[in-house]
Amino acid sequence: MLQQVELYSALGKAEQNELFAKLKTAYAMLPQTTCTGCATCCKWGSPPAFFVEYLNMYKYVRDNMKDKWQELLRRSTEYYYLELVDTQQTCPFLGQDNKCSIYEVRPFSCRAYGLLSKEDFAIGDRGLKQLAKKFKEEYDITIPEEIVNYDLPWCGKVVSPRGYESKSTLAGLAAQIGALDYTFFPQELVDQEGTLLPYPVHLCNTVLGSGVRARKIKVMKQFCDNGNKEMLNGFIEKAIAFQF
Ligand code: SF4
Ligand code: SF4
Repeated sequence: MLQQVELYSALGKAEQNELFAKLKTAYAMLPQTTCTGCATCCKWGSPPAFFVEYLNMYKYVRDNMKDKWQELLRRSTEYYYLELVDTQQTCPFLGQDNKCSIYEVRPFSCRAYGLLSKEDFAIGDRGLKQLAKKFKEEYDITIPEEIVNYDLPWCGKVVSPRGYESKSTLAGLAAQIGALDYTFFPQELVDQEGTLLPYPVHLCNTVLGSGVRARKIKVMKQFCDNGNKEMLNGFIEKAIAFQF
């Protein structure tokens, strides 16, 4: 959401207001779980993170993953532009070993997945059918059926010492984390989930600037027409020069 200069000031503000400690406290209210580590949930896409969670992840990547910066920037840029048209896109933090490279700072969405019973679990309508229709009509871009129709299934393989959580508990915790974003953005925007975005969206706004969105259609179209990544590669080249 913010470019780099503003991001540095947001990081300072987060430290001053002890937002990272508050975030950690909120995360600690969730149970310690185990699962099979199949990574189905991580291959579905990049889950949304509140802005404060993005800052937390940004700081972790900056301080601990210098050797992975270029790969992360490349994968995040690809994901940002092609998530709707390329079925191969996964969360950019998923390693080849099926492990999460930022496990200790993964966002609430990842932590909460698998904690609801089958009856309570619902991804909700992501509006992809309507979006696919609009893209076809306005830009002649086809969003693959595989993407339009795929919904992340209920997991059922997460083991928690206290059983399933209630929807209200998880909604309350999400609201508590979202409220930390009031430090940076108007409450109305945060409450409408305007600061809850996939990590690659947050990162591309920081790295490639505010015009990033306007160029998305052209990149998608070029990829859809003939698998050409020329424009995309130009943005990737710019992105991988970024210093966290
Ligand atoms: S939470 Fe479920 S889907 Fe995700 S890695 Fe664990 S077992 Fe697989
Ligand atoms: S952040 Fe980690 S846990 Fe969450 S989807 Fe990505 S790889 Fe999976």
